[in-house]
Formats: sequence, structure tokens, C-alpha cells
Amino acid sequence: MKIVFATNNKNKVKEVKALLPDHIEILSLEDIGCKDEIVEDADTIEGNARIKADYITEKYGYDCFADDTGLEVDALNGAPGVYAARYAGNEATYEDNVQKMLREMKDKTNRKARFITVVALNLQGKQYLFKGVCEGKILEENRGDAGFGYDPIFQPEGFKRSFAEMDLEEKGKVSHRGKAIKELITFLLVRL
Ligand code: IMP
Repeated sequence: MKIVFATNNKNKVKEVKALLPDHIEILSLEDIGCKDEIVEDADTIEGNARIKADYITEKYGYDCFADDTGLEVDALNGAPGVYAARYAGNEATYEDNVQKMLREMKDKTNRKARFITVVALNLQGKQYLFKGVCEGKILEENRGDAGFGYDPIFQPEGFKRSFAEMDLEEKGKVSHRGKAIKELITFLLVRL
């Protein structure tokens, strides 16, 4: 079967492709000719995932799924949360966000943090939500150069390496997105 993954983030497409069984093929927004900038202005992770999935289903008529991720840092009272992409400002790059996080966390002893992903699936007129959480900590400096976003400064619980020091398969086994996508796959395999 083919299903649209409502994202333009090539890193996410790679991660999700690595988890899917061969008979589930994903089409990215590029594949369906969608170049629109989808405005993610909800104030919850779930809300943003639903906005992206609904935009594609309503405009193009495709069954599709979308993910949204937030990063909660305990010492920052849960910030940046749903605003992880814009932590250092509206035009912030991944590196800007990482540098701001390292500055804000300087001298903080409690470094506990978690990534949370919600996947919204629109299938045959109904919507389903799947969630994945990955507990870990914010490192004191960048480590590794794989992945994207906050990967170089996030170390999942039970590991001595950052996400950016893991390959796709290893990150997918423990990550927030990996867990949410596994729930999605289990659901799809039963339904289809
Ligand atoms: P998005 O809205 O789902 O794209 O996620 C918001 C922001 O969270 C992104 O811009 C990244 O900075 C960060 N992010 C999302 N997923 C990951 C991940 O798997 N690793 C590191 N950072 C991530």
C-alpha cells in the first residue's frame, strides 16, 4: 500500500522509511507535488500533527499521516515544548536552537528531558493518534554528526551516546518517533 507522510523533512522520511515493512510505501509532500508551507500554529504537539495531516487530506484527498515533535526540558519548566523548532527565533536553524539550549542549560545540574512525538493518521474518513516518548538528558556539548535538530545534544536514557552518534536503525529503536511509528505500523498491519 502507499500512504502519504505529510512532511518535507528528509531526515524524518529516512527515519520512517527505515522502520516500515517493504509493502508499506510512503510518498512525501514532494512526491505528491505539494510545495505549500503548512502553518503549524497549534499550541500542542497533537494539534500540530493534526493540522498537517488534515491539510493534506482536505486539499488533496489522500489518506495520510503526519508527525509533530516537542522537546520538554525539566530544568526549563518544560520549554521549549511544542516550540522546539522556533526556540531561538522564527528563522532559527537547528544549530541556533542547539546553541541556545546549551546556553540556557549551562550550570544546570538537572538535565532530564524528553522528546514527545504524536502521529496523526487520517485513514478512510477517520483520524487516529499515536504517541511515542523518549526519556533522556541534555548533554553539555555537541556529540556526533548524524541525525538532525537537537540530536547532537540529546542522549537517550540507558545509552552513553547521543542520537547523533547512532545510526538510523539504532535511533529508530529507542526514539520518540520510532515508538510512535511502530504503533502506527501495528495499527496499519491489522487494518489493511
Ligand atoms: P517538528 O515540528 O516535528 O518538525 O519538530 C520540531 C523541532 O523539534 C524540529 O525543528 C527539531 O529541531 C526538533 N526535532 C524533532 N524531531 C527530532 C529528533 O528526532 N531529534 C532531534 N530533534 C528533533
